[in-house]
Formats: sequence, C-alpha cells, structure tokens
Amino acid sequence: MLQGQIVAAFGKRFEVELADSAPDQRRISCVTRGKKTDLACGDFVEIALTDQFEGVIEQVLPRQTLLYRSNAFKSKLIAANVTQMVIVLATQPSFYESLLNRCLVAAESANVKPLILLNKCDLESADALQKIAIYQALSIPVVKLSAKQNVAPLREHLNNHRSIMVGQSGMGKSTIINALLPNANVRTQEVSTVLDSGKHTTTAARLYHLDANSSLIDSPGLQEFGLYHLSASELAHAFIEFKPFLGKCKYNNCQHSHEPDCAVLNGFKMGKIAAARLKHYQEIALELA
Ligand code: GDP
Ligand code: ZN
Repeated sequence: MLQGQIVAAFGKRFEVELADSAPDQRRISCVTRGKKTDLACGDFVEIALTDQFEGVIEQVLPRQTLLYRSNAFKSKLIAANVTQMVIVLATQPSFYESLLNRCLVAAESANVKPLILLNKCDLESADALQKIAIYQALSIPVVKLSAKQNVAPLREHLNNHRSIMVGQSGMGKSTIINALLPNANVRTQEVSTVLDSGKHTTTAARLYHLDANSSLIDSPGLQEFGLYHLSASELAHAFIEFKPFLGKCKYNNCQHSHEPDCAVLNGFKMGKIAAARLKHYQEIALELA
C-alpha cells in the first residue's frame, strides 16, 4: 500500500500524488472501490497500484478539516485538510455580500481560518472598502491588492497553510493563480483542455504546491455555497459575533428573527451586531428552515 494526497478530483476519478515520490513526483490516476465517491481534493489516502500510473484508493486517512456544500437534496465535498479559505472579492464588479457571508459560515463551521482578499485595488474602491469594514471589525484578516500588479501581499499569508481559494467569477481568481504559480497560465490551459476533449465535465478542483509547506486548492466551479448540512444552531454559532448572545434568548429554539426577549436581536439593538450580518443570518436561516 502506498500513501499519497489527492491533488485533483474529476467526478469519480482522482489524481493522487505519491508521498516521497520526488524527484519524479509520480502521479497516479485512481478510482475508488465500489461506489465510494466521498473523497475530496486534499485528502490523504492509501492506494494500491493496478498499473504503473493507475491505482485504486483503498483508504482515506483521518481528516483535519472538511469543507462541504449542499443543497436540499445532496451534499458534496469541496476540499479536505485545508487550514485557510481565501475569499476573493474585487472592487469591481461589485461582489455579492451574501456569498461572502456564506463562505464565512462554511469556513467557521469547518474550523477553517477565513481570509478576505480584496482584489483590483488599482480601481476605484470606496464602495467595496465600505462594505468590508464590517468584516474587518470582526477581526477577519483582509488583504488588499491588485493581482495584475503584485500578489506578494497575499503570498505571505499562504505560508505554512493549506489554502482554498473561493469567489464568484470575475473577481480575479485565475489572474491570482497565474501570478502565484511560476508555471504560468495553468488555469487557462486546463480549461481549454477540457473544452478540446468536448466533455462537459465539472471543472476539477486542483491542488497546487506553493512550496514544501504551503499549498493552494483552486476550485473554479465553486460559485455557490449551499449550507443545508448545517443545523440552526451551527449556523448561528458560525456568525462569530453572535456567540456571546447565544443560549440567552427567552426561547430555546429561538430563530433570532422576531421573537420577544431575543438576546441576538438585543445585541443588534445595542450595536454589537451589524445590520447586514443579521440580515444575512436571517436569510440563510429561513432557507435552512
Ligand atoms: P476569475 O473569474 O475570478 O477567474 O477572474 P479573472 O482572473 O478571469 O479576472 C476577471 C477580469 O478582471 C479579467 O479581465 C482580469 O484581467 C481582470 N483583473 C484581474 N485582476 C485585476 C486587477 O488587479 N486589476 C484590474 N484592473 N483588473 C483585474
Ligand atoms: Zn434569539
């Protein structure tokens, strides 16, 4: 049995990079046993070779973290063992604050550290800066840069982390990936290969090594963050500034929407919770109910 890490996930096929495989960095194209598909990019696995470059995944090693997304019908694994989520926003076009909040909830509930990256700071940024002030006040780290000019301010935040990059399209994720990786235009090339083959496969999640201790998972297909796998209580706890108020409402099953003696609503009235955060919480809670 050989150990390795899943560095790309294409539906039921997984590319596994063998541990200690340097200098040849052997990558094995693997399938799973039976119908098992609950594996994700970033997973550490044990495989059995069936050929020089082909194998079967026999076992998944314990995960440090696991990110999901889900709708009312099913949940899907996004990435395993990441320690940081880089949420890419841009000054222009304007970003969806609801997606930002969903990403923050997903990160917090999976015990993954969030980092907000505001890209395109070479453009007019007053609106975006105003919007992200709430999140800065919550002590969520914010990095501002222009990926077209210099990604160095981000690079240092990636050190010693296994990061995943998320964000709506148009925010500059491809530009960032291409600037970070010496092997430029990785992402663009990959898209064209998929197109050439004429397959409408969901774009693969891919793990890139930045150095021996830092990696970055790029998940281009990831535009939505369904949170149906969370309970009402998990959702509330993922809004970090709600925590001091939770468990103090009049009703045990309080939804923090209009109930009397709701500690969260009182926290909002006292100015301890921003209106936008309460609104996004209530929106997601309604969806999960
Ligand atoms: P993605 O959809 O998130 O992968 O975004 P892209 O990397 O494709 O970028 C979307 C558009 O924004 C492209 O036209 C980029 O050239 C542009 N862009 C990316 N980064 C910057 C930046 O720092 N400043 C400016 N002005 N434009 C940028
Ligand atoms: Zn309440």
